[in-house]
Amino acid sequence: MKDDLRDSMKTTLVEALRLCATHARNDVLVAIKSAIETETSTIARDQLSCILNNMRMGIRNSLPYCQDTGSIHFFLRLGDGFPIRSGLPELLREVIQDATALIPLRPNTVDPVSEMNLSANLGNCIPDIDIILVPGDKLQVDVMLKGGGSENMSQLIMLPPLKALESLPSLIARIVVDAGGKPCPPIILGIGIGGSASSCMKMAKKSILRPLGRSNSRPELAELESKIHSRVNGLGIGTMGLGGDVTALAVHLESCPRHPASFPVGVIFQCYAHRHARITISPNGSCKIRDDFSNAF
Ligand code: SF4
Repeated sequence: MKDDLRDSMKTTLVEALRLCATHARNDVLVAIKSAIETETSTIARDQLSCILNNMRMGIRNSLPYCQDTGSIHFFLRLGDGFPIRSGLPELLREVIQDATALIPLRPNTVDPVSEMNLSANLGNCIPDIDIILVPGDKLQVDVMLKGGGSENMSQLIMLPPLKALESLPSLIARIVVDAGGKPCPPIILGIGIGGSASSCMKMAKKSILRPLGRSNSRPELAELESKIHSRVNGLGIGTMGLGGDVTALAVHLESCPRHPASFPVGVIFQCYAHRHARITISPNGSCKIRDDFSNAF
């Protein structure tokens, strides 16, 4: 029974990774098409059309639409009654090994000391696995392929709390200007405020799992997202940093309580190659990949 569940999970998760790498998400396609319609720069429109065409070719040929297939992150919501628990990390490592060979994914794990490429997208602390324990008997897996160019622009800032919130749009604008074309815009910005140094970075990364453009459910945070989005798109950085009206496809912000003396701000950049899939797995082995992929052409 557990073996059947394992087999079914491995097959589905490898397929989810293939979809992530080769099929652009619907929300990204819709956002890029809308950017083409509103963009006033000819160069930016041409670049966006190239991106769209490249995504089309990825689907047609079942090949990754960016050469950097990223680092692999898993976010798990593990139900109390789900039968596989301590065996999950090993199962996910096997998934990555198979996916790296089959899709193929670029080997993206380099030992920082020896500089050797560990070749199977695996290593100490890799993949990055975040687990939340929840009621129920299901496992929900969010998997993300996160490009290095955008990840390089991540920032943690510990602000003095006084006036931190009102200074946030200017702070983010400065960070986006410094990043310029390096994170492969149009970007998706994930911002975490509050918590600790580590939890606000995690919150920022998780915020980009939200469907693009879905606002924070707290109205004041939704308003802040919209304010930051307008500010960023007013910077003129544009697609691939070549100038234009659309620098960010979306800005997502999450918050949690902070220490009275601290105001951590975590900023995560995601490139236009926003590769993420959600899979729900039942104890009987039935697995469902959410239908997020490439019906929007
Ligand atoms: S940042 Fe994103 S789009 Fe740019 S090379 Fe890396 S994965 Fe590709």
